[in-house]
Amino acid sequence: MAVFSRYSRAATAATMQRQTATATATFSYLIRTFSSPFCSSSSNSLNSETDLNRGNKPDVLGTLKREPKGRNVQWVFLGCPGVGKGTYASRLSNLLGVPHIATGDLVRDELASAGPLPSKLKEIVNHGQLVSDELIIDLLSKRLEAGEAKGESGFILDGFPRTIRQAEILEGVTDIDLVINLKLREEALLAKCLGRRICSECGGNYNVACIDIKAEDGRPAMYMAPLPPPPQCASKLITRADDTEEVVKERLRIYHEMTRPVEDFYRSRGKLLEFNLPGGIPESWPKLLQALNLEDHEDKESAAA
Ligand code: AMP
Repeated sequence: MAVFSRYSRAATAATMQRQTATATATFSYLIRTFSSPFCSSSSNSLNSETDLNRGNKPDVLGTLKREPKGRNVQWVFLGCPGVGKGTYASRLSNLLGVPHIATGDLVRDELASAGPLPSKLKEIVNHGQLVSDELIIDLLSKRLEAGEAKGESGFILDGFPRTIRQAEILEGVTDIDLVINLKLREEALLAKCLGRRICSECGGNYNVACIDIKAEDGRPAMYMAPLPPPPQCASKLITRADDTEEVVKERLRIYHEMTRPVEDFYRSRGKLLEFNLPGGIPESWPKLLQALNLEDHEDKESAAA
């Protein structure tokens, strides 16, 4: 199987080459993909002195639509499991016309395929562990390569990078413009994962959880309405195998251990936009757009209707 042999090659090479600088040779697929048209000009990247956390708007956010000659955005979503990366990445992807690439989806597609790799993979994923950096980079490279062949440009990554090594490799091959770090109160995260439902036919994401946290100890109340499926999906809903209480707790633990340092990695480079979700989509989406200096005309029109 081609994927398997490429994975083995990458894994073997990675063992031999520990330094990120030499990963350039190891992950030739990624590099090939990131050389034009994905490759950005340095003028598009954020000034590391820009303090996003104090609310200053970096130039790139204000000029997204005004630079027809520039390449599309290259953004990353970080955040704990259940925070809503997929929801907001997919909305931004529709708004900006760039692909939303979720490495979790790539892993699940791989799991759905036949062969020796899926049974090993299934065990790792169903226990909430991370798959190897080599495998995830191989899957991502193939996805980017296929997108490039179809004329895609730019991306919004969701679920990658999840380790410092992945972040270093990505940083070594392209300019990431912006990293949006979504945050949600811890008590809502577990409930949101347990309430997640997926349409087995169209892949749509819904949620049956109704989160209603009362104001307490000076913290404001928070309400997040369920996100019901449309009638055509209602009878086809499934639950992800890794959305059980035990596995979600393990995924949260792994996030804190392996992925929190990635937040610091981008923070120190001036690329991190911290965004505290104030509630469900109706409250959060307009605020996120505001933080990004974007407008969603369709959303405004449907709200006004
Ligand atoms: P997600 O849908 O993002 O929650 O990802 C589901 C699972 O896929 C994770 O629990 C990991 O097992 C695997 N996975 C996704 N992205 C990565 C990554 N960047 N690095 C390692 N494992 C990943």
